[in-house]
Amino acid sequence: MPQQIYLDHNASTPPSPEVAEAVARALRDDFGNASSIHAFGQRAKAAIDDARTEVAALIGAEPGDVVFTATGTEADNLALRGVVEAAGPSRTRVLVTAVEHEAVINTARAMARRGVPVTILAVDGDGVVGSQAFEDALGDDAAIASVMLANNETGVIQPVAALAAIARSRRIVFHTDAVQAVGKIPVHVPALGVDLLTLSGHKFGGPKGAGALWVRRGTPMAGVVTGGRQERNRRAGTENVPAIVGLGVAARLARARLAAESARQLRLRDRLEAGILMAVPGSAVNGARAPRVPNTANIAFDRVEAESLLIALDLEGIAVSTGAACSSGTLEPSHVLRAMGLPPARVQSSIRFSVGSTTTDDDIDRVLAVVPTIVQRLRAVNRR
Ligand code: PLP
Repeated sequence: MPQQIYLDHNASTPPSPEVAEAVARALRDDFGNASSIHAFGQRAKAAIDDARTEVAALIGAEPGDVVFTATGTEADNLALRGVVEAAGPSRTRVLVTAVEHEAVINTARAMARRGVPVTILAVDGDGVVGSQAFEDALGDDAAIASVMLANNETGVIQPVAALAAIARSRRIVFHTDAVQAVGKIPVHVPALGVDLLTLSGHKFGGPKGAGALWVRRGTPMAGVVTGGRQERNRRAGTENVPAIVGLGVAARLARARLAAESARQLRLRDRLEAGILMAVPGSAVNGARAPRVPNTANIAFDRVEAESLLIALDLEGIAVSTGAACSSGTLEPSHVLRAMGLPPARVQSSIRFSVGSTTTDDDIDRVLAVVPTIVQRLRAVNRR
């Protein structure tokens, strides 16, 4: 059995030991219903409030404006559906970009099937949304514009602060899906100037099943999951206390470690990229000219089928990904790389490496030792 190397941190991250311990402790000890008045309930509520404070601190926000959800996907749904439901009849349009995660783009498409006008905005060759194109697309009937902060496949960072300022000047609610940015780059809601921001615990060392939507106070937004009065009427349902506690601990650790970790991961990622580009002729980084989060490398290998490379690397104990985790297995070519205008052959030959907190220099050495040989072998097979 070869040494296992996990380079798929954009799909999900291993929780830190502190997170795992806190989740286990909360599961065992904080079992009361946070809506109950007795001491058991109040203990669970206090645990949730502590987590809310940590999540708010990570993004420079007030705790009262953080709404816990089960997932990033649910937070994205709440943003898009909740704002459109609360908007008046003169503002119904939803504007999203062509490179959004399925959680946003497929939600917009589902809304379009029910009669909501939806605009899907194109991006340039590096996957970046242009300010002028964004402004032109807003029109005067948009209820919400949603532009991700960092792309899950390429790591490309959008000029969210500039776009949010344009939306603000037109009084259009602006949402950003920051699921792939939080824990990797500083994310500060006042500096971004957005109205809504999505994050997800399992992408930065927290457990699955814990996400959040930050909502600027006063933003008109209806609840989507209806029922009890949890989360100040914005998200009904008994809170998943252990997952929320884990998210809080992950947020605290991410804030403390961000500067050192992002510099460390950038060094590892850059070494991986430079090593592959040097050793493998016909390789290229997708989105290379745009600003990117420090942990992601999306690399095209000319004349190689990405799925074959992924499987060959898996046999070597190296876990990578082709595009978004949720669409892999369907063999759908990446909508993100296609939106960047890359030729179909390049889209089909692209692999995502995403480093993270557990990645070491030894891991990168091993990948650099095996990738060129595997690529050479696959190309030789292809030629026959
Ligand atoms: N948004 C982005 C950019 C993502 O990368 C992901 C997960 O891959 C999501 C949203 C969905 O988050 P979750 O897995 O918590 O539903």
